[in-house]
Amino acid sequence: METKKKVIIIGSGPAGLTAAIYCARANLKPIVFEGFQAGGQLTMTTDVENFPGFPDGVMGPDLMDMLRAQAIKFGAECVQKNVDSIDISSYPYKVLVNKDSFDTDSIIIATGASAKLLDIKGEELLMGRGLSTCATCDGFFYKDKNIHVIGGGDSAMEEAIYLTKFANKVTVIHRRDQLRASKIMSERALSNKKIDFLFNTYPTEFIGDENGNLSGIKIVSSINSETSEIDSDGVFIAIGHNPNTSLFTGVLDMDENGYIKTIGKSSKTNLKAIFACGDVQDSIYRQAITAAGSGCMAAIDAERYLEENNL
Ligand code: NAP
Repeated sequence: METKKKVIIIGSGPAGLTAAIYCARANLKPIVFEGFQAGGQLTMTTDVENFPGFPDGVMGPDLMDMLRAQAIKFGAECVQKNVDSIDISSYPYKVLVNKDSFDTDSIIIATGASAKLLDIKGEELLMGRGLSTCATCDGFFYKDKNIHVIGGGDSAMEEAIYLTKFANKVTVIHRRDQLRASKIMSERALSNKKIDFLFNTYPTEFIGDENGNLSGIKIVSSINSETSEIDSDGVFIAIGHNPNTSLFTGVLDMDENGYIKTIGKSSKTNLKAIFACGDVQDSIYRQAITAAGSGCMAAIDAERYLEENNL
């Protein structure tokens, strides 16, 4: 494998792979470090109904396979490895992956975001044992069960609706009396006979049984602080996401929520030749199509940088 690159792309969601398509077509021979969850968050979703060009919808994993195939077709190299660190102390920068070190003239960061957790008792212990952050991955295990979804946004509604395919009953637990989700998603969930809502309520502890599997939730009312315990066969946490920026802490400027700051309408970060795109720099739109659009911007910004600097 060539270890001097013009551009290294970190992350393989819609942003990273769109950047790869554009960089590859610009003959920059990009390498994409895909991470362990290649394809990003869309690989954990089902129907994507709002990506332009697919009037009948497209399955998230299929969309990612197509983007990857398109990038490879034009010469991008996709490697299913995690980047361990980047070294910006000299230029070209160094990207360290396992025991390999790559020199690169530019870096496109597209590391996306990960599911937020509640940070309450029992959460860490019971994760994967009745507790999940991904309905598409784990919903199948809950056939005819009574399960709960935490959250009131689009993700929570999407998870709840999806889980009704398997579960006997899905109860959405939301800390306020109003959903944050879009009107269309809220209406779909509210009109689904298999979905109940527990408003003004939040969980304080996940309870396990003698086998170490989840059996219930301690909840508290946000109105009168009354606590109670409810039985549950499974809980899906869907309360939003955190940007995946641990590689860049202390290296790049970030906003108060840890999203990488980009300059003006560009994908430029505070460091030369480092560009950011997709959910890692977008706390507002966070859509597959906006991520793809910003991946295109990052590729064009990188290409122009290389051209202007004769690299
Ligand atoms: P979100 O919109 O930020 O919603 C997070 C939800 O979790 C909110 O209802 C919030 O409550 C609740 N929450 C947050 N922290 C909590 C805590 N510690 N304890 C209890 N509840 C907590 O996140 P999202 O649903 O992941 O959506 C993110 C973006 O992606 C949105 O722009 C959304 O439209 C988009 N999206 C779209 C689709 C789709 O169109 N198919 C699917 C998924 C996501 P509060 O309401 O009280 O803040």
